[in-house]
Amino acid sequence: MKLTKLFNSDKLSLSFEVFPPKTDSAFESVKIATEEIARLKPSFMSVTYGAGGGTSQYTLDIAKNIKDSYNVPTLAHLTCVSSTKETVKAKIAAMKEAGIENVMALRGDLTPELEKTDRSTWAYRYAVDLIHDIKASGADFCIGGACYPEIHPESCNQAEDIKHLKEKVDAGCDFLTTQMFFDNNLLYNFLYKIREAGITVPVMPGVMPITNANQVERAIKLSGSFMPQRFKSLVDKFGHSPEAMKQAGIAYATDQIIDLFANGISNVHVYSMNKPDVAEKILNNLSNILG
Ligand code: FAD
Repeated sequence: MKLTKLFNSDKLSLSFEVFPPKTDSAFESVKIATEEIARLKPSFMSVTYGAGGGTSQYTLDIAKNIKDSYNVPTLAHLTCVSSTKETVKAKIAAMKEAGIENVMALRGDLTPELEKTDRSTWAYRYAVDLIHDIKASGADFCIGGACYPEIHPESCNQAEDIKHLKEKVDAGCDFLTTQMFFDNNLLYNFLYKIREAGITVPVMPGVMPITNANQVERAIKLSGSFMPQRFKSLVDKFGHSPEAMKQAGIAYATDQIIDLFANGISNVHVYSMNKPDVAEKILNNLSNILG
């Protein structure tokens, strides 16, 4: 199923993100975790892609398994910055062959090694270049792109970031998914600004349940997200107890999701990090809301 169908419905929905294994030996355990999440019947599941290409085959394997064995629509991520034109062409063909209908078109993070090389030699500099190639391939994918309510770390200001986001959408993005954020007001402000800039495609907020104290630092480093005092207090108070932190983190994410639904958002994406218990608890918390 193409995700555009989901966005055309007013029904509230929740989707989950999983990531593929980095090594062969981890494949089975990751597959089992993703299958447990698929059994919860989320509206769809996204499967991330290793920027260096290391887990690229697994992305497709996991996405195909979820779709074919559990009848849950999947969104396969694809990054381009460290790829050649030939590799990307082959990846697009493989996704088509696997029956994938939804692709998240990403640039990928710049590694220190890559940054040392001459940018003029790169086949892909931005996600928009990948979107152009996906479109040119003739494959009829529903295409997603990433967006950043708190600005992409490389952007000098939000106006510049939104200008490039508009170029990405104009190139063929059917929807956008946001980077994680912990204060919904940042998302509402961002939505106001992008709508004003003429970006009209559906935007799916991405919510990350922080379920252990160690995740906090990593999440901030990766996303640059602002941590509200309310969230910091929660980590201060419960961070030392894994069970208490998990319960508090799930409650915080649930609260964020309920507020998003109450403010007119229909589809929320949860960065569930291959944790079926977390995905299940959030769904249970929302059982009467999701209907
Ligand atoms: P782009 O849209 O290309 O933007 C990158 C930067 O370049 C921005 O600052 C933008 O403003 C700027 N820019 C864009 N076009 C131009 C231009 N023409 N001229 C000058 N500047 C320009 N990473 C992975 O490795 N695997 C994943 O599966 C993955 N999934 C993700 C899912 C989501 C929802 C999000 C939010 C991020 C994900 N990432 C993933 C991380 C992502 O790869 C990084 O954030 C990366 O640094 C940027 O990717 P992008 O597609 O947003 O890039």
